[in-house]
Amino acid sequence: SQCRQMSMDAQSVSEKLRSSGLLRTQGLIGGKWIDSYDKTTIKVNNPATGEIVADVACMGVKETNDAIASSYEAFQSWSTRTAGERSRVLRRWITRPVWRWRNVFHGCQMRMKLKFDLLVAHKEELGQLITLEQGKPLKEAIGEVAYGASFIEYYAEEAKRVYGDIIPPNASDRRLLVLKQPVGVVGAITPWNFPLAMITRKVGPALASGCTVVVKPSELTPLTALAAAELALQAGVPPGALNVVMGNAPEIGDALLASPQVRKITFTGSTAVGKKLMAAAAPTVKKVSLELGGNAPSIIFDDADLDVAVKGTLAAKFRNSGQTCVCANRVLVQDGIYDKFAEAFSEAVQKLEVGDGFKEGTTQGPLINDAAIQKVESFVQDAVSKGAKILLGGKKHSLGMTFYEPTVIRDVTSNMIMSKEEIFGPVAPLIRFKTEEDAIRIANDTIAGLAAYIFTNSVQRSWRVSEALEYGLVGVNEGIISTEVAPFGGVKQSGLGREGSKYGMDEYHEIKYICMGDMNRQ
Ligand code: NAD
Repeated sequence: SQCRQMSMDAQSVSEKLRSSGLLRTQGLIGGKWIDSYDKTTIKVNNPATGEIVADVACMGVKETNDAIASSYEAFQSWSTRTAGERSRVLRRWITRPVWRWRNVFHGCQMRMKLKFDLLVAHKEELGQLITLEQGKPLKEAIGEVAYGASFIEYYAEEAKRVYGDIIPPNASDRRLLVLKQPVGVVGAITPWNFPLAMITRKVGPALASGCTVVVKPSELTPLTALAAAELALQAGVPPGALNVVMGNAPEIGDALLASPQVRKITFTGSTAVGKKLMAAAAPTVKKVSLELGGNAPSIIFDDADLDVAVKGTLAAKFRNSGQTCVCANRVLVQDGIYDKFAEAFSEAVQKLEVGDGFKEGTTQGPLINDAAIQKVESFVQDAVSKGAKILLGGKKHSLGMTFYEPTVIRDVTSNMIMSKEEIFGPVAPLIRFKTEEDAIRIANDTIAGLAAYIFTNSVQRSWRVSEALEYGLVGVNEGIISTEVAPFGGVKQSGLGREGSKYGMDEYHEIKYICMGDMNRQ
């Protein structure tokens, strides 16, 4: 009966969204909403209830080629608009000014500029869409909308700060200039774990720099992408500048990669798919940025503040049910604090409320699908069979579906699968270490290199260890560090390139060198 109650909530939410016009099921090509050409659809499920939320167009090669053509055409004008004009369009995606007459004094009226936020004013609806198709708690989903919107806001400003360069010439009759120009049409392929933010983190800098984009959201979570695109159209993003095609991932991917008109592929997802895309980008020599899987260590030193370490690791590990690329995948704890930490951490994890994301008080939603549950179960089984001990959880939750109990496992060692691969679920393995050198060696002993966390009260140690870690981002006494103003990305097999900040903008530019000769000729 609890499940039925939850599913009714989801049902009424999806009905409300349908009538608001934000629950779209067609793809967006050249500014028009269209069905797939062969009228096939794919089902989008609510992972908390298994119910079908929508049937969306299942697109493939032909639709993708049309989207690329419309993007290519749109590029010709979008790229020649001034940075200020592009900035204003992006800004309207966040905040659209509306003029209204207002009574100011004794019937005296004045036209006043009010601000109507598009992405931000729709944060409830967008958040509900995220919870419906992805499962995360509504509060977390609304937080993702704010985080996602922050990239559009940041790049609306950054658009105006793209400078070239003048190089001191190597001969007196020459002048040497450097221009930054937009790359061209961008193919953006995104995952299901952050259905909005992974898109705005790419589309923001792409549009700001003058590129146009074909977005391919995950087939598991296309609804949020479509709603964001609808708001982009309302904001004045021109037809073709932003297209959304979804459905058959390999077909869409192949079309984007084969096209010589697509000059850049930006991908967030698994390392396995990232490698395939990188290889497929070679024949047309596209620029590629990859945000791939991680295997983040959270290193708790003896001298750490226990409370800060527990809170930080809890947030880094259990946010989004452990389904983030920057998730603390391995919790490395020093000998002297191991037992104390294990106890305090388990106590904190026990307080997590598992349930439907729409239920008040839920702090951990379901996993995305059965395959995710099976992966977590097999990792836990492997660890236990090799001697690890479950302190908390360790099995599917009694709610059924894809709910898994928040889990803490101690005595995990490097021969267990969960210390080598991304768990992508609510399971925290505690690994013991003796010295700082041990911690660094264990932390770096992986093909991944995205995020790492350190908990210590020593300034010297935080600096030393941060420098020694082979990772793209390091949190010191902090469990959630991603922000639009800082560069995000991995080293080793966690990826190529950076997103967010001024560095994220560089990914969408080509550098052009111009040598002007004969300066002194009469
Ligand atoms: P995934 O690789 O299965 O899918 C990602 C996207 O690629 C989806 O849109 C999918 O449809 C598409 N895709 C799959 N096969 C394709 C193909 N042959 N050609 C073209 N596109 C294809 O990953 P996922 O399961 O959606 O996401 C989880 C993974 O993403 C995890 O490994 C996680 O660590 C990673 N991730 C990384 C970051 C980061 O910034 N580094 C952020 C979020 C998620």
